[in-house]
Amino acid sequence: MRNAVVIVLAAGTGERLGLDTPKALLPLGGRPILARAVSAALASPAVGLVVVTAPPGSEDLAHAIVEPLGAHAVVTGGATRHASVGAALAAVPDEAPIVVCHDAARALASPRLFADVLDALPGWDGVVPAVGVPDTVKRVRGEVVVGTEPRQELVLAQTPQAFVASALRDAHARALDADLEFTDDAAALEWAGYRIRVIPGEPGNFKITTAEDLERAEHALVETAHG
Ligand code: C5P
Repeated sequence: MRNAVVIVLAAGTGERLGLDTPKALLPLGGRPILARAVSAALASPAVGLVVVTAPPGSEDLAHAIVEPLGAHAVVTGGATRHASVGAALAAVPDEAPIVVCHDAARALASPRLFADVLDALPGWDGVVPAVGVPDTVKRVRGEVVVGTEPRQELVLAQTPQAFVASALRDAHARALDADLEFTDDAAALEWAGYRIRVIPGEPGNFKITTAEDLERAEHALVETAHG
C-alpha cells in the first residue's frame, strides 16, 4: 500500500562545505548524496512517490540523478528550508494521507528508519526519530554559563519525520502566516499544538554539513562495506 509521499529536501547550497556544487549533488561513496536519500526512501514498501526540492538551476541535474530510481517529482526549492517544504507540499497529491520530510543531507538514514517512523505514526500527528545527548548541555549568554539542562530530557532530532498530511499542511501554512521559521518540520507542528511522538533514531544518521562530516560519511560507508 504505497500511500506515503516522501519530500526529500535537497535545495541547500551547502556553502558550509566550502564547495560550488550544491551539497546534495556531491558524490558520497561513488553515488550522489541525493541518490542515496531517494533510494532509502523508495526502499520502504509504504512509499509511493518522492518529491525532491532541487537548488534553483540544478533541477535537470537532480532529475537525471533520481530518474533511474523510480516514482518522483522534482520541484525548485525556495530560499529557506521552510520555503522548500512549501514548494514540495504544492506537488504532493491532495489525497496523500501521509507525508514524510527528509533532509537529503542525512544521506546515511537507513530504509529501516523510514519504515520505523511510518509504523509509529498511527494515533499521532507526527513521528520524529532522535538520539540521546551524550554531553552535558550548558545554557550560555556570551561567555557566561547561566544554567545546565537536564540531559535526560533532551534528544537530538533527525529526519525522516512522518506526518499526517493535513496536520503538516496546516502547521506549515500557519507558521508561514505567523512569519515563523523552524529548523525542522516537527517544530512547526509542536508550535501549532499537534502531538509528536519520538522514537529511536540511528547514531549513524548524522547530517552532512561540513567537509569533516562528508569525510566521516565516506569512512562510515567503507566500514559498512567491510563490516
Ligand atoms: O541547511 P540545512 O543543513 O539545515 O538544510 C537541511 C536540508 O534542507 C538539506 O538537505 C538542504 O538541502 C535542504 N534545504 C532545502 N532548501 C533550502 C535550504 C535547505 O531544501 N532553501
